Amino acid sequence: MSFKALLTVELPRIVEHSPWARIARWNLKQPNVAMVLGKTIHLSGVTREQFLREPSWVAHEMCHIRQVQERGLLRFLWEYLVESARVGYYANRFEVEAREAGARDAAHYAALLAVPLPDGPGRGGSEQASAGHNRPDVVV
Ligand SMILES: [Zn+2]
Repeated sequence: MSFKALLTVELPRIVEHSPWARIARWNLKQPNVAMVLGKTIHLSGVTREQFLREPSWVAHEMCHIRQVQERGLLRFLWEYLVESARVGYYANRFEVEAREAGARDAAHYAALLAVPLPDGPGRGGSEQASAGHNRPDVVV
């Protein structure tokens, strides 16, 4: 299988300059946001190319896509919002799981995307370890 075919199989659709992600970005006051809407990753403040250069971020969003697929969108949305209201963003179990996936699967996506695995904790790392790498994201 060619590299391009692998990408097609593994990566979902990615929308740049997404108005939905821009709204989330304004709400969160973040310079860049990746947001999962069903099976699509929506970006604002970051290009597809920049996003795909951060394997732990890709792994994090891919975990959210799995979470949506496992539960169905409505159930996932409901559980995510309840969890957010209860414990906030960081302790939200869906975010905890996605951060773990970000750390665990980063090497896989780095190999898949043919990009270097960055030093440091990335999105799977410890809290506040690197403000630039612990970008909040929104899952819808
Ligand atoms: Zn997340």
